[in-house]
Amino acid sequence: MGRLPDPRGSDGWHYHPKGPHTARHHRALNRRPLVRARIGGAMTAMTATQTPPASLHSPVIGWFDQHARDLPWRRPEAGAWGVMVSEFMLQQTPVNRVLPVYEQWLARWPRPADLAAEPPGEAVRAWGRLGYPRRALRLHGAAQAITERHGGDVPSEHGQLLALPGIGEYTAAAVASFAYGQRHAVLDTNVRRVFARAASGIQYPPNATTAAERKLARALLPEEDERAARWAAATMELGALVCTAKNEDCNRCPISGQCAWRLAGKPAHQGPPRRGQTYAGTDRQVRGRLLAVLRDAMTPVPQSALDAVWDEPVQRARALDGLVADGLVEPLAGGQYRLPLS
Ligand code: SF4
Repeated sequence: MGRLPDPRGSDGWHYHPKGPHTARHHRALNRRPLVRARIGGAMTAMTATQTPPASLHSPVIGWFDQHARDLPWRRPEAGAWGVMVSEFMLQQTPVNRVLPVYEQWLARWPRPADLAAEPPGEAVRAWGRLGYPRRALRLHGAAQAITERHGGDVPSEHGQLLALPGIGEYTAAAVASFAYGQRHAVLDTNVRRVFARAASGIQYPPNATTAAERKLARALLPEEDERAARWAAATMELGALVCTAKNEDCNRCPISGQCAWRLAGKPAHQGPPRRGQTYAGTDRQVRGRLLAVLRDAMTPVPQSALDAVWDEPVQRARALDGLVADGLVEPLAGGQYRLPLS
């Protein structure tokens, strides 16, 4: 990945949340360069002070050295394929739900070619109740491409990873960083929250990742590859265990003395409302019920078996149509359905 010129100056950055007024104040005091970025809908000023990004690296990485969970995808034997599988699964599902499915998945398909050799429906079946099952199809598609284009080995180049079907910027960066020790900004929900608080002084990041967040993440990366990869994993773990969405535990945080949001008195969230996670009664729930019937069946199922799991016919039909359109369900002649064979 190409590196941006380092704009930190000799003293590094501290990121102030209060916008132009604070920026003017600091400019008057310091006469130092000032960079601004729009984060969370508000103009955020970043001014040079005594808090360089490097001062965050050692405490966070040191904390990670002591407190990192022993997760199977972090062990050397997981390899790049294990890392990739875990990243697909973890994107929208908590670790405790991913663990058993991950173990079964790797036991059954220890290499990409093993998964690629089976129908995509088997990936959907093995995905179980992890949710957002299109991820299973995408992982299967990536395994096929890895087998065909890369001789069955997960590529190490970020560009090659990004070119795989179903792999976006996040997953490519995560695999390149965690599996191959490269220097990439890896911005998942947890990392974005830590950066929003510690560096930008706001409680929550925007709903969708912004260019300003990517720029900030790149600026915060350690220079050296291995340390940058460690930093990526460490910030992710800090967000998962300490700086959580609902209960930040600042007393246990290794950077509490430098955290912009904490030092500002934890101002309340002022951005757009945060997206909820409703499930009951949604089409997602209906899709989950329908797919569960098909996962449990080793032969095609009749429409009546699907009708039995959701009473409301319009919503049920809409959910089934969606599953078919997404390639998660294959309709057969005679009104029967099954998981996809191709
Ligand atoms: S001090 Fe508190 S809010 Fe700031 S990064 Fe640490 S846990 Fe999060």
